[in-house]
Amino acid sequence: YYNNKTLVFLNGDWQYAEDAQTSLYGQTLHYGNGVFEGIRAYKNDVGFNIFKAHEHYERLHKSADLMHIKIPYSVEELVSISYELLDRNNLTDAYIRPLVYLGANMALQPTDEVNVFICAWKWEKYLGHDPIKAKISSYQRIHPASQHVEAKVVGHYTNSILATTEAKKLGYDEAILLDYTQHVSEGSGANIFIEKNGELYTPSRGNILPGITRQTVLEICKEHGIKVTEKPISKAQLLEADAAFFTGTAAEIAPIAQVNDTVFPLSWEDSIGQSIYHIYRQKVLFNDLQNQTII
Ligand code: PMP
Repeated sequence: YYNNKTLVFLNGDWQYAEDAQTSLYGQTLHYGNGVFEGIRAYKNDVGFNIFKAHEHYERLHKSADLMHIKIPYSVEELVSISYELLDRNNLTDAYIRPLVYLGANMALQPTDEVNVFICAWKWEKYLGHDPIKAKISSYQRIHPASQHVEAKVVGHYTNSILATTEAKKLGYDEAILLDYTQHVSEGSGANIFIEKNGELYTPSRGNILPGITRQTVLEICKEHGIKVTEKPISKAQLLEADAAFFTGTAAEIAPIAQVNDTVFPLSWEDSIGQSIYHIYRQKVLFNDLQNQTII
């Protein structure tokens, strides 16, 4: 993730990654109370574009609000720090990881010491390019009455790690978690869409992290007249789908070939997901123009 030239942003300073330090008594380290994001930048003709940077930092602020954490930087400031971070590291195609973590405090309540760390590295498409073998996890997605499922909180990812570890041990590439109503929620770090009879379906909000890629796919469907419905999806509906794919900033749009023992009948090449992937790869090169001044 870093070498001896890598610069990171830490609390207003630019530091070499290998020199940056933090407390061993931090609340995020001990209890998982911190929030983060995963953002991608793409090289384009004019340099690079950080795709949906504002949306990611707005979600970071929302996650922090839900956890009673005050981020000392505005969305605008965080966006501009991220552009500077890539410039300083000569990165164009990159994954950006902002982490908001709390300082020393062993009490079970947030502390005022809020640290903002942002780093970036080159990262290949998470989950790879090959169609994925997914396993329905024995671990359930965290209950919305126990945690703010829609927030990207550090501690939530122990649920994802358990699910992925189980799936890999059983010979699969990735897990699909059901929610407490036994409906499909999402992958360990990505949302899911299924295709059936030429239409797409994705689980409604409530028991998922509302992904920015998921939202982008919904927009692509609208722009291209692809019928898509947000609704609860049962395990049986998932297994009877014609095709399926994961969506996420790191995974982008990743084909699922198989769930448990069931291989989907439609090949990736013939699926709606594949067409969406091509549109997505074009879309990431530039942000939506409506909020920008065009001179
Ligand atoms: N669900 C979970 C649990 C995730 O960690 C992620 C990755 N942030 C996603 C869905 C996809 O979200 P996004 O498209 O915003 O990256």
